[in-house]
Amino acid sequence: MKNFQIIRALSAGSAVTSSGKEASSMYIAGGTNLVDLMKKNVATPDKLIDINAIDLKKIEFLTQKVSIGALAKNSQVAEDKQIKEKYPLLSLALSAGASQQIRHMATVGGNMLQRTRCSYFYNTDMPCNKRVPKSGCGAIGGSNRMHAVFGASDSCIAVHPSDMCIALAALDATVFVEGPKGKREIKFGDFHRLPGNKPEKDNTLEKNELITSVEIPENNFTKNVHYLKVRDRSSYAFALVSVAAGLDIQNNIIKNATIAMGGVAHKPWRLTEAEEYLKGKTVSESTFKHAGDLAMKEAKGYGDNNFKITLGANAIAEALTIAASK
Ligand SMILES: Cc1cc2nc3c(=O)[nH]c(=O)nc-3n(C[C@H](O)[C@H](O)[C@H](O)COP(=O)(O)OP(=O)(O)OC[C@H]3O[C@@H](n4cnc5c(N)ncnc54)[C@H](O)[C@@H]3O)c2cc1C
Ligand code: SF4
Repeated sequence: MKNFQIIRALSAGSAVTSSGKEASSMYIAGGTNLVDLMKKNVATPDKLIDINAIDLKKIEFLTQKVSIGALAKNSQVAEDKQIKEKYPLLSLALSAGASQQIRHMATVGGNMLQRTRCSYFYNTDMPCNKRVPKSGCGAIGGSNRMHAVFGASDSCIAVHPSDMCIALAALDATVFVEGPKGKREIKFGDFHRLPGNKPEKDNTLEKNELITSVEIPENNFTKNVHYLKVRDRSSYAFALVSVAAGLDIQNNIIKNATIAMGGVAHKPWRLTEAEEYLKGKTVSESTFKHAGDLAMKEAKGYGDNNFKITLGANAIAEALTIAASK
C-alpha cells in the first residue's frame, strides 16, 4: 500500500476545500471498500479526507419525504422503525447486503460509490479499462459469469454491486451533493452511468463533490414489496441478479408498479416497460411471468453469464409473486 496523509474534516465545506487542494485526494467514510482498494493498489490517493466527523448521519422524516444523511450507517437505516414502515423496500435491500459487521461500518454515501467487484478490476496484473483507461477489458472474452447483460459497451461489461442502490432506483430517490461550485441535486436514475467509452467513470459526480444526503419521496409501496437477491452463498456474496419490486394493489388490480434490477448492468437497471405492462392488470402468475420475460427480452450475454437472462426473468416473476402475496 502506498503511504498517504489523512486529515479529518469537520464540515462539508471544509471537506470540499481540503479535497480541492490535492489532485489525488479521496474522501473516506466507513472505509469498507476504499481500504481494500488501497491495499491492492487499485486506489492510490496521496491524501484521505476522513468525513466521519461531519454532521451528516441523521435520518429526518420531512413532509412527504425522508432525508437520509450520507454518513448514516447501512445498519442504522435498515433497522430504523419508520424506514421499515414507510420505505420497507430500502430496509430489505440494505439487509441483503454484506454482513451485519460491514453494515455497521458502511455508510449510505460510500455504498453508492463502491466500485465494481469485477475480479480483473481488483487485479493490477490484468488489463482493465476501468482501472487503467485503454488497457483493455479482461472480462470480454474472459471470465464473465458475474457481468452485465444490459447497457454494456466494448470497453467494459462490469456491473454495479450495491443492493441499497437498487431500492433507491426503484423508489425514485434524489442525491444531494456539495462541491467547489456549490450545492446541487441529481436524480438517482442519472447518478450512476453506463460505461460507454469512459468506463473509468462510474457516476456523474464532478471532481471533489461530496454526497451530503439522499431523499426519497413518500409512495404507496409500503406493503406489497420484496427484494429478491440471487447469489452463490446466502451471506457475504454479491448478487448474481437482484430484483427490487414494489406493487400498489387495490382489489387485486395492480394500480402501480416499480421494479429495478441489480447484478445486470453498470448502474441500477429500472424495468420501465415491465412496470407499464403491469399497470391495470389483475394479479396472476402468468402476468408476473410475462413481466419477467418482457423485461429481459433485450438482454445480451457474454458467454459465462448467459444464464442470467433466464435467471433474471424467473427472479422478476418470483419477486413480484412474493410482493403480491404480502
Ligand atoms: C466482504 C464484503 C461483502 C460485501 N457485500 C456487499 C453486498 O452484498 N451488497 C452490497 O451492496 N455491498 C456489499 N459490500 C460493499 C459495502 O456495502 C461497501 O463497501 C460499503 O457500502 C461502502 O461504504 P463505506 O462507507 O465503507 O465507503 P468507503 O469505503 O469509505 O468509500 C467508498 C467510496 O466512496 C467515496 N465516498 C464515501 N463517502 C462519500 C461521500 N459522502 N461523498 C463522496 N464520496 C464518498 C470514497 O471516496 C470511496 O471512493 C461488501 C463489502 C465487503 C467488504
Ligand atoms: S468489465 Fe470493466 S471492470 Fe471488468 S475488466 Fe472489463 S473494463 Fe475492467
